[in-house]
Amino acid sequence: MKLVPKIDLEKCIGDAVCEAMCPDVFEMADDDKAHVINPDGCGELCDCEEAAEACPTEAIILEEVEEEE
Ligand code: SF4
Repeated sequence: MKLVPKIDLEKCIGDAVCEAMCPDVFEMADDDKAHVINPDGCGELCDCEEAAEACPTEAIILEEVEEEE
C-alpha cells in the first residue's frame, strides 16, 4: 500500500506549511492553495502523514492505494 495525497481546496487556507515540509510533493499555486505536484512522492520524498498532521485545517487527505508491481 502507498499513500497518495490530495488537497481539500475548500479547507486549505494557503499557509504553505505542507509546501515547506514537502516541496517535492506540494506546491502553492496562483489560487493561494496548495496543490499536489507529485502524487507518488509520499515516502521517499516526503513524510506525507507528518505533513497531513501538520496541516492546521486537515486539508490533506491521504488515500491508501495498492502499489503497482
Ligand atoms: S498545510 Fe494545509 S492549509 Fe496549509 S497550504 Fe497545505 S493544505 Fe493548505
